[in-house]
Amino acid sequence: MTLAIDVDGVLADFCGAVNELIYNSSTCHPLPGWESWALEDNIPACCSVHINAAMRSAGWCAAIPAIAGACEAVREAIDAGVSIILVTAPLDGSPYWMHERMQWVAAHIGSDVPVIFAGGAHKQYIRCVGAVEDNERNLRSMPAYFKYLIDRPYNRGATGGGLRVDHVRDAIRSYALVTRQVFPMASEQA
Ligand SMILES: [Mg+2]
Repeated sequence: MTLAIDVDGVLADFCGAVNELIYNSSTCHPLPGWESWALEDNIPACCSVHINAAMRSAGWCAAIPAIAGACEAVREAIDAGVSIILVTAPLDGSPYWMHERMQWVAAHIGSDVPVIFAGGAHKQYIRCVGAVEDNERNLRSMPAYFKYLIDRPYNRGATGGGLRVDHVRDAIRSYALVTRQVFPMASEQA
């Protein structure tokens, strides 16, 4: 019985890292509202070549900031005995992404967490009882009984893909309850 958790937009602040590239680009741009899933809708066209290259450069994936409290919640759940796998997409054209994503997981959660690289249409093959995603289409395709959609501006138009939650901690708590893996989370005991 396994809970599959997506990484970008759930544990890793991918949009925040792209925002920093936009902010630091040579031309001043307002930061995007991320109301569209498509990356090209959020990156200013005039600096898209630069930003797409920067996203594929050495060190960029490893430096993506974690979403506050997200990795801690996953760690707590693993330590409490919840079976968790991380499912994360490769980045086309990047020779560094997959290795650095493994480093990222090891640094933020631990090297004992199983990581499966699958994105988009391939997520349907992930065997799991629960799934946490920020992409409603991915969530629909996954063969899970318990599905959680992390609320983001780019998925506000989606309906019915799963239970909408603000944070992965809420998803883990709900999953643990419905699968009767009730455990206290240290972050709630204070
Ligand atoms: Mg995602």
